Amino acid sequence: MSRSARPLRARIHLDAIRHNYRRAQSLAPHSRALAVVKADAYGHGAVAVARALTGEADGFAVACVEEALELRESGIRGPMLLLEGVFSPDEIALVDRAGLAMVVHCREQLDWVLAARPSRRLDCWIKLDTGMHRLGFCPSEFAEVNARLAACPHVGERVAMTHFARADEPDHPYTSVQIDAFERALNGARIGRSLANSAAVLAWPQTHGDWTRPGIMLYGVSPFAGTGSNANLEAGELRPAMTLESALIAIRDLKAGEPIGYGGRFVCERPTRIGVAAIGYADGYPRQARDGTPIAVGGRPTRLIGRVSMDLITLDLTGLETARPGDPVELWGRTVPAAAVAEASDTIAYQLFTAIGRRVSRRYEEA
Ligand SMILES: *Cc1c(COP(=O)(O)O)cnc(C)c1O
Repeated sequence: MSRSARPLRARIHLDAIRHNYRRAQSLAPHSRALAVVKADAYGHGAVAVARALTGEADGFAVACVEEALELRESGIRGPMLLLEGVFSPDEIALVDRAGLAMVVHCREQLDWVLAARPSRRLDCWIKLDTGMHRLGFCPSEFAEVNARLAACPHVGERVAMTHFARADEPDHPYTSVQIDAFERALNGARIGRSLANSAAVLAWPQTHGDWTRPGIMLYGVSPFAGTGSNANLEAGELRPAMTLESALIAIRDLKAGEPIGYGGRFVCERPTRIGVAAIGYADGYPRQARDGTPIAVGGRPTRLIGRVSMDLITLDLTGLETARPGDPVELWGRTVPAAAVAEASDTIAYQLFTAIGRRVSRRYEEA
């Protein structure tokens, strides 16, 4: 798709990703940080992101073995954790060969590890369910699971981990409940600890432990709700890592009372100049985006008007009289925070990034 003349691209700012990783490290200076690059590095391109962090990141975390092998085959070395572990016992041979670490979150995985005959020791991260109620052993099972893995000659490093349900709500007590449950389960055990996602790196220093697991913050988005302004990013000293950009391909002047697009959702209240840009929901721009969703033309802020189509969107050019076909349109990036687009679309930036379609070519840039 890179030869496409359609003016749509995702510009990935590799320097921003490095900056954000360093920011995560400096917030948790006594911890090592696994850069979370699952889901193709949240749509930014896992191989390019991992390469940009080579020599910088203490390790990487991915969801599954396919994602890890893509990185290994591209020459990415160092610690690499499978956040969901393996889905069948045969996968342990791949884990062994690729030198991966794996989460062990259930009895089946525990049995597979214990029964394996790997060529080297397997690093196992014991996942505890301290309140997310999704994956993990009950806190009461920790001592037994840990003891069995510790006694197994082909198990190497062990780390105890958990995941927070509400760390993005800094005033909510639930994270403290989870921290307490985790520490009670470990009961002073001498084992590495890993609790913190981005929100906890930023807001819960007591969770930093031995390994943090920053994801969304690497991509320059604050995990906290209501952070759709770049002021909040500056407070977190994060830099947007993606600029999703297209161009105006048509401009028209509509009369008062004329509707725009499917369903006529937006009706002009006065004579209105509108622009049409080459991006739509098939490219990952959210169809749920409301009238008023922020957008920028030639670096100047304006708003989406009319329903998002498969390949096109319409936007308000009021006050942007000099706009011309071909002018760049920023869907999100340094002028338009991805979190603001997400808020106006009832979703989160994580989903926007991971929904970017195959028609969008990526362009990697250094500062
Ligand atoms: C995705 C994921 C993370 C990263 O979360 P962010 O909110 O993106 O920082 C950390 N830990 C686990 C277990 C995850 O699945």
